[in-house]
Amino acid sequence: MQTTIDMASTSQYYTDLEEKYGAHNYHPLPVVLKKGKGVHVWDVEGKQYYDFLSAYSAVNQGHCHPALVQAMIDQAQELTLTSRAFQSNLLGEFAKYITDYFGYDKVLPMNSGVEAVETAIKLCRKWGYEVKGIEENKAIIVVCNGNFHGRTISVISFSNDSGAKKNFGPYTPGFISIPYSDTAALAEALTNKNVAGFLVEPIQGEAGVLVPDEGYLSAAKKLCEEANVLFMGDEIQAGLCRTGKMLACDHENVRPDILILGKALSGGMLPVSAVLADDEIMMTIKPGEHGSTYGGNPLACKVSMAALQILKDEKLADNAATLGALLRSELAALQSKHISVIRGKGLLNAIIIQHANKEAAWDLCMEMKKNGLLAKPTHGDRIRFAPPLVINKEQMLECVAIIGKSLSILD
Ligand SMILES: *Cc1c(COP(=O)(O)O)cnc(C)c1O
Repeated sequence: MQTTIDMASTSQYYTDLEEKYGAHNYHPLPVVLKKGKGVHVWDVEGKQYYDFLSAYSAVNQGHCHPALVQAMIDQAQELTLTSRAFQSNLLGEFAKYITDYFGYDKVLPMNSGVEAVETAIKLCRKWGYEVKGIEENKAIIVVCNGNFHGRTISVISFSNDSGAKKNFGPYTPGFISIPYSDTAALAEALTNKNVAGFLVEPIQGEAGVLVPDEGYLSAAKKLCEEANVLFMGDEIQAGLCRTGKMLACDHENVRPDILILGKALSGGMLPVSAVLADDEIMMTIKPGEHGSTYGGNPLACKVSMAALQILKDEKLADNAATLGALLRSELAALQSKHISVIRGKGLLNAIIIQHANKEAAWDLCMEMKKNGLLAKPTHGDRIRFAPPLVINKEQMLECVAIIGKSLSILD
């Protein structure tokens, strides 16, 4: 019989605990992590891995970045939460910092990404009624097929993922879904005068890193302007240097009317999200009409400013652009018959696995895990490759070597 100490040192022990006491709403790769630093994570047995997912782009700055850890510690010893019933010395400072940083009049801080999406939708509807003049309860928001914007009832109401929707109805009305990267479909949808906004991911991450046709975002923005419709950019995953620019919309010089941020906004420290907009939009929400107990808390404000500062100080957009190009060219050079597609921008990438076995992508991820690299399949045959943006060339080449070696498991 194993002693308690032996058991506690094995992944199986923790896996069993989660399985027995945690809801089964995820199907993780079987690896139990206990430490992270930069591009690396370590499991409970002490094995080191490259993290090629970055918590879905939340740890762009790398795991446990020292400046973020320091900001956390400093602020945690000072003040962490006041609620919005009282003011703090950091919310105003954060609001000035982030609005200067992205060039908007105002910010509305929330916590999780989906809360920021909900906030954007509420804001858009309010603007639709009070500024655009849409008849009460008639506002429509146009979204794209294959979208992922989070997990609340309203947000899954306009998802096409049956797993995310089934038996969670009734659904929230007021959304129209059109094909992604289809300007004609958008133009058609915008002929409806009740449309208040267009909600779009500049790259569809969850769908398997679908990069729209070049010119799509700028054309969509122009169509929205012509129709007096708000362009809402969900940059929660693609933003904050991930794709080689500060925002993914920057690739086409598009400035969303409503900008939605999350994930790397705290560099993995705590849930921090934000919605940015100009006064005409943001000032439609009055005291008491929207909020969150933890939204804009001093700890979040402090950490978020540090997280944004790191992106600029360490030139992570440039690094993502350079190393993303290297990753895609090195993957192509592997000339694997099992990879049918390599796509992405910056360090938001995916490959599509071509194989008779439906489990091939999962099997490859298990083999990469064995060889020291963690990635996870999405939609069965796609694998996202999105390491922290602090990765260097030498590390990237080692990662491609691991991927190349692991692919032989599919032969
Ligand atoms: C992750 C994600 C969300 C939801 O963020 P949560 O923090 O998980 O609620 C919304 N939109 C996009 C594009 C995302 O990638």
